[in-house]
Amino acid sequence: LPLLELTDLHKTFETPKGSTQALKQIRLSVKEGEFLTVIGPSGCGKSTLLKIIAGLDADYEGDVRLDGERVEKPGIDKGFIFQEPRLFPWLTVEKNIAADLSLSDATVRRKVDELIRLVRLEGFAKSYPRELSGGMAQRVAIARALLRSPKVLLLDEPFGALDAFTRSHMQEVLQDIWQTNRTTMLFVTHDIDEAIVLADRVVIMNARPGTIRKIVPIDLPF
Ligand code: ADP
Ligand code: ADP
Repeated sequence: LPLLELTDLHKTFETPKGSTQALKQIRLSVKEGEFLTVIGPSGCGKSTLLKIIAGLDADYEGDVRLDGERVEKPGIDKGFIFQEPRLFPWLTVEKNIAADLSLSDATVRRKVDELIRLVRLEGFAKSYPRELSGGMAQRVAIARALLRSPKVLLLDEPFGALDAFTRSHMQEVLQDIWQTNRTTMLFVTHDIDEAIVLADRVVIMNARPGTIRKIVPIDLPF
């Protein structure tokens, strides 16, 4: 059974100006532990697709299943990373990662420390977001999303706001995370190099309405 299965997914936005079909006839099957990138022109429906899988938008036609269950609301089984880190400025790194869980719980403490090492932020547990670079802040967001071991990590152009050097470092960190815990990843980008470097398979989308053009397996001898 695939971890994630999208069958005949259609999405239309109704606005006062009329309706826009954002996604049409999407079929996609993702195995546990896979790393997929989704690439396509601006407006082809990449964000819409990710939000539906995250349970942030339940107003769709078709069938979206995570581990056999229909997706209709957000939950701890789906981690989400936005383009901006969205940290709480008044909380330290470790408290941002722990979110609503208490660091005085030994299990939470251990997990947070492990994640801080995983995203290479040793020494910054007590720092505040304003003391971090953009890449570091995004690593905090990744750690926070991983805290409850989601079945899938959904990343919507997470490195889009970063400079080229930081971006390639972040790609390395994300690869490391994936090698370590094999979390299933669905990563949206419009950078073709990034799509190829990171993924097992690249999903290429067509614009308007968004359809899947091709799914390309990546098998490069790095
Ligand atoms: P991408 O992430 O690939 O740039 P989006 O998923 O953001 O594309 O958008 C897909 C299409 O749906 C676009 O035509 C966009 O204008 C439209 N769209 C996205 N969100 C909304 C919304 N909340 N209301 C109306 N139309 C929307
Ligand atoms: P504690 O150590 O008890 O967890 P924190 O200082 O970490 O206390 O803050 C706990 C909560 O207080 C935060 O999650 C937030 O809801 C609220 N809070 C603290 N500072 C602010 C602020 N500047 N603006 C809004 N809410 C705040």
